[in-house]
Formats: sequence, C-alpha cells, structure tokens
Amino acid sequence: MGKDTRIATVFGTRPEIIKMSLLVPMLDKSFEHSFVYTSQHYSANMAEIFFDELGVRKPDHMLGANSSDYATLQLAIEKSFEKIKPTHVVVYGDTNSTLSGALAAKKSGAKIIHVEAGLRSFDSRMPEERNRIETDRISSLLLTPTNLTKSFIEQEGLGGKISVVGNTVVDACLRYIKRADEQEVLGKFGVEKDGYVLVTAHRQENVDSPENIVRILKTFEKIDKAILFPIHPRTKKHLSERNYQIPKNVRVLEAVGYLDFLPLLKNASLVLTDSGGVQEEAITLKVPCLTLRYSTERWETIIGGGNFLVGLEPELVSYYVRMIFGSGLGERMRGAKNPYGNGKASEKCFGEMVRFVE
Ligand code: UDP
Repeated sequence: MGKDTRIATVFGTRPEIIKMSLLVPMLDKSFEHSFVYTSQHYSANMAEIFFDELGVRKPDHMLGANSSDYATLQLAIEKSFEKIKPTHVVVYGDTNSTLSGALAAKKSGAKIIHVEAGLRSFDSRMPEERNRIETDRISSLLLTPTNLTKSFIEQEGLGGKISVVGNTVVDACLRYIKRADEQEVLGKFGVEKDGYVLVTAHRQENVDSPENIVRILKTFEKIDKAILFPIHPRTKKHLSERNYQIPKNVRVLEAVGYLDFLPLLKNASLVLTDSGGVQEEAITLKVPCLTLRYSTERWETIIGGGNFLVGLEPELVSYYVRMIFGSGLGERMRGAKNPYGNGKASEKCFGEMVRFVE
C-alpha cells in the first residue's frame, strides 16, 4: 500500500476490543499500522480478558489513561500521534475514546475513518449520541452498518464518503460462539438452556440514578424466572453505594469474558439489556431482547421484530416478559432476521479502507 500511508487505530473499551478484533490483524498485514489503546476500560475483566480470549495483539501504544475524561484521553492520544504521525485514523462506535481519537486526529491533520458511523438514538442527553454525531461530522470515510444508518448520515448532509458494510459485531459473535464450550459455560454458571433470563445494565441514565436502579430491581421481582446479572463496573459501583435489596431470583455476577458471555446469551430464554452491542448480538444469536431504555440507536432490531423498547416501568417490562413466555411472541422474536450482515463486515470495512487510502 502507499508508502506514505500510516494508519493509527484508536480505541479503549470492551465493546471496541470485541468489534475491532478481526480488523486489527487485517490492517497489520497491509499497512504501516499503529494500534493505540487508551485504557478507558482498564480492569482485567473489562479489557485484558478480551485481548486474551480474542487473541488481539498487544497495542503499540498503551496510553494508560484509566479514565473516561475527554481532555485526559485526547491529550494522551495527541502525544501518541506526535510519534506515529498518522495520515489516517480509524475509530469505532460512540465511546469517549472514539470522539477523543477523532478530535486528536483532526488536530493532527489526519483523515478520520469512522466504523459504525451513522447510528442515532435522537436522544441528545446520551453522551454516546454526542460522541457519534461529533465523530461523524469530522470523518472522511463513514462505514455504516445498514441502509437506515446510511440514510441518517445523508439526512444530516455530512461530507464524508459513506459505505454500508454491516456490523463487525456479527463477525465476532459468530466466530467466538464457535470457540466457546457452551455446555461447560452453562455448567460453570449452574444454568440450563432456556432456564434463565440474562440481564445487562450499565447506561449512565439507568444506573447513575437510584430511582432507576430501584425500578430495574422491581422489574426483576416481577419476573418469575431465574435471572443472571453480570455487572459492569459502573453498575457495581452504584449498587455498592446503597443497601439495595437484590430479589431472590437474581444472581449478580462480576462482568464475564466474551467466551462466557456469548454462550450465556445464546442459551438464555430472554435478554433484558440497555447495551448497544447486546441488542445486536441478541438478534444475531436469535434470542428475544427487551431493551431497558426509552430510545435506541439499534432501530433495525426493533423493526426486524427481535427487540422491543420497553423502558423502565416494571409493569410494562413484566407485561412483555409474560407475553414472551406465555404466547407465541418469544418464538416470533427468535425468527427475526439479522439486519447487520452475514459476518463479513470486517472484510468489507477493510476493503473500503484500502480503496479510500489508495
Ligand atoms: N459483554 C461481555 N461480558 C459481560 C457483558 C457484556 O463480554 O459481562 C460484551 C457483550 O457481548 C457485548 C459488549 O460486551 O459485545 C457490550 O459492551 P457494553 O454493553 O459495555 O457496551 P455497549 O455495547 O453498550 O457500547
């Protein structure tokens, strides 16, 4: 490839490690490629385990920011760029590392390639929405998962080149579920196929508010099933700050690695989540999903029939849970078609990047 092309990839959180895991080696093979990890997620169970399980190589620049503060992240990334002098910078998704990487790239004069561009919840209170919009605005290549997300970018009249590529989470999900030993994982957590509901919740607007945590716990009480609840460090922090009564049917776990999480998701009878990635993985693995939010940027999962946006009112959420178990709704949801592609998104992203930088 062009001998003056220097690509830097910047990311720093669990979902980015997962979703970039197959792209990093492709970039390594074909470009002068530096991989910068900000350490926005830094604990062993949010970062290291994903590098190990997914075989993602060691970053060239491990920034050790241990923070999600924008200024701290951007400054650290800028310092790494002084050494790398990138011509192009790849960022993924909507985290604080994404936007900080994009702003640092803009300052250094590098062209920005945004993977998972165009997602919109139209809820401006979400930090992730700001991160996405700001990053898209300054990106030159917008790799977007679906025609719907492409249309959002077009509506905004953004200047970058747009290409629809699917979502790399499908590639990761399909590849790593094969590597996991499903029976062993179910045995390790003492559950059986279809015998439990899986829950994840970590969004700022949900777990930073004691009122909303109580709503989530009240919802659990109304569900007549065993619940597994692997918790994000943010949720752990807030749960430990007050003496919340955890309902008897709920097992709270530390956040688990990908090779445990995927089998737990695939074999659950239902997932309740406020995560972006889990909404995508649920439809990929054909698991009914209820999203504990009032907005989503994963519209396609709802339009496709695999996901309902149920908010946080215990009565409403438990009504949907009863429908899923007590009528044919659960089966219909399992039949939803995956809108995010067939597992070739990383290759498509790579192809678009090659054409773009040439
Ligand atoms: N995940 C995991 N272990 C867990 C919970 C989630 O490996 O205990 C994975 C999940 O499969 C998904 C990703 O983490 O790919 C989602 O991360 P998160 O919910 O933190 O971020 P979001 O997708 O909302 O940006």
